[in-house]
Amino acid sequence: LRTLRKFFVGGNWKCNGTKESISKLVADLNSAKLEDDADVVVAPPFLHIDEVKSSLTERIEVSAQNSWIGKGGAFTGEISAEQLKDIGCKWVILGHSERRHVIGETDEFIGKKAAYALSQGVKVIACIGELLEEREAGKTFEVCFQQMKAFASKFSYSYAVPSWDDIVVAYEPVWAIGTGKVATPVQAQEVHVAVRDWLKKYVSAEVAAKTRIIYGGSVNGGNCADLAKQEDIDGFLVGGASLKGPEFATIVNSVT
Ligand code: PGA
Repeated sequence: LRTLRKFFVGGNWKCNGTKESISKLVADLNSAKLEDDADVVVAPPFLHIDEVKSSLTERIEVSAQNSWIGKGGAFTGEISAEQLKDIGCKWVILGHSERRHVIGETDEFIGKKAAYALSQGVKVIACIGELLEEREAGKTFEVCFQQMKAFASKFSYSYAVPSWDDIVVAYEPVWAIGTGKVATPVQAQEVHVAVRDWLKKYVSAEVAAKTRIIYGGSVNGGNCADLAKQEDIDGFLVGGASLKGPEFATIVNSVT
């Protein structure tokens, strides 16, 4: 129901880009024609956020790719939610599979980060998703529900109970990320429905109906339209294809 849930497309630039390539990407995004009925957010590496914020059209919001679990201070190498807010960065991606599986972040740690970011007014793109062996073992729903629970349980005893309006859930099956093996529309829709049912059961029917659940994993200009037609796919989190301005615009414009 697009009327309840505005289409949302995020571009996750990951650890890519130079000053030069990023300024070209920003110029391409600034000149792209983007449909009005989609929220668009890009997540540059920390180093480039400030520059991207000041050179990118206000039509597109800026996200970080990570944030610290609490107030800043003596935490070498970290960036706090307050610091993100200070430079006008309104979003953060948390729970991305690369941080879970390459860097070893746990559900507990990710849940804390999300609750803290929300408490500081930084909105969260909360990522969940199963590994290939978990899918093959029939554990897809179990894994996604466990990850949802880790987010939601931290929200319930955070500083101020955050509003689910500030959370976008990204379902990103790990086997589909950066592999070129996109989930089929049916595979993705099935998990999105299950996650929405989980929200209905454990949070509320209203939150379930309103929360955007976006899909990520090898989304590109060619496969986005079929995925976007699914009723419970409310947009995308895009990695590789978000580094190409015109293709990213095509994905944004797949809003139905
Ligand atoms: P991909 O990455 O589009 O390159 O598969 C998606 C993501 O990791 O968010």
